[in-house]
Amino acid sequence: MNKCQILVVEDDAPVRNLITTTLKAHEYRFVTAADGSTAVMEAASHNPDIILLDLGLPDIDGVEVIRRIRSWSNVPIIVISARSEDSDKIDALDAGADDYLTKPFSVEELLARLRVTQRRLALMNGSGSQEAVYINSRLRIDYVSGCAYLNDEEMHLTPMEYRLLCLLAQNTGKVLTHKFITQSVWGSSWDNDVGSLRVFMATLRKKLERSPGAPQYIQTHIGIGYRMVKIE
Ligand code: CA
Repeated sequence: MNKCQILVVEDDAPVRNLITTTLKAHEYRFVTAADGSTAVMEAASHNPDIILLDLGLPDIDGVEVIRRIRSWSNVPIIVISARSEDSDKIDALDAGADDYLTKPFSVEELLARLRVTQRRLALMNGSGSQEAVYINSRLRIDYVSGCAYLNDEEMHLTPMEYRLLCLLAQNTGKVLTHKFITQSVWGSSWDNDVGSLRVFMATLRKKLERSPGAPQYIQTHIGIGYRMVKIE
């Protein structure tokens, strides 16, 4: 599985070495960059499969690096953030990052994030995102008829819940921010109405999850947003 090439963008040499040592041990190929402008050039010249991007870089801000790369590429970007505040992660996700790691992170966390991203890549490349039917374990969405099924039984969803479910399904594996979800599902007049989103999410989970208190399908990222998980 690991013939994946990763661009590692990190100015802190010990952290960069920890990452590259881990990648080497798990048979990932990689290239490195120690600042933002090199990162943008390397992304263009090497066409990596995944980018690991530190947000605090000496020249350009990591969020600006994401914006530049997103102007031509959909390559999955996992941001590495040292700051404990959520705002920089949210800015990065809104600029088009797919996922995040918070420093200090363990080798296991790094590998887990890479596996999630590789599964997402496999879904994207397997034209999974363009299929008319979405299947994720017990959940099936038939986009053509506009119906969702759980264990082959039709779910009785409101139009809002259905749109919310489809948006999450179409972005399986990716963390979506509150702002992205509210703007996509309800339009800009609902900009960041997190309270209403929580209410719709709670009713959707009651219908979707076996145990809404310990959800399997939809992960909560506190203060940031939600992610649909691909169930093995
Ligand atoms: Ca840094």
